[in-house]
Amino acid sequence: MTLKIEQILVGRMANFSYILYDTETLESIIVDPSWDLEKIFDFLKINKLSVKYIINTHTHFDHILGNDQISLMTGAKVIQHQNSNEPHDISVNNGNMIYFGKSKIQVVFTPGHSRDSICLLIDDKYLITGDTLFVGNCGRTDLPGSDARQMYESLFYTIIKMDDSLIIYPGHNYGSTPVSTIGYEKTNNFVLQERTKDEFLEFMGIDD
Ligand SMILES: [Zn+2]
Repeated sequence: MTLKIEQILVGRMANFSYILYDTETLESIIVDPSWDLEKIFDFLKINKLSVKYIINTHTHFDHILGNDQISLMTGAKVIQHQNSNEPHDISVNNGNMIYFGKSKIQVVFTPGHSRDSICLLIDDKYLITGDTLFVGNCGRTDLPGSDARQMYESLFYTIIKMDDSLIIYPGHNYGSTPVSTIGYEKTNNFVLQERTKDEFLEFMGIDD
C-alpha cells in the first residue's frame, strides 16, 4: 500500500482537514480544507504532492472555507454531494467511486447532520466520517438542513453495518482520541447503542 493519510487539526472549532496521498505517484486529495491553509501548503511542498481533488464531507462553512484558495493554487477540482448548494466542479452520490494514485474512494451518502453529508470509504480500510460520526458522539441534528430521522438511518442502517476493523477519521477532534474504529465506536459510542427510531428521536430531543 502506498496510501497515507495526514490528519491536520485546524481553526478554533477543532476541525480536521485531511490530506490523502500516494507516496509513489505523489498524487493527493484534500478533504475539508478550512483555516490554517499554510499547514496544508507546507505539507504539499515538503512532500512534493500534486492535488487532484478537494472533497467536502458536507458544505457547512467550517469544512469548505479553504476550497477556493486550494483550488486556485493547485488546480484541484472540488467534489461535493449532489444536494450541495455551494460552488463545486463535480457532484457525487452514494456508491460513486473517486480514484487517485493507486487508491479508490467510495462515496457513502449519510444525510442527517446536513442534506449533503457524505462519508468517504478509502481502500475498504479507512472511513472519513465528517460530521456524521465523531469519536464518542454524532453530529448535531438541530441545525437548518439537519434531520434526526435521517441521522438514525445513516447511523443504524449504514455506518453500524460497516466492518468493525475500519479506522474512522472524524470531521472534528471532539473525542478522547483523534481516530477510532467502527468496532470501538459500536461498543463505546453512546449514540450508537441499540435504539428504535422513536427512542433515538427522543434521545436526540426531537418531539414528534
Ligand atoms: Zn457540520
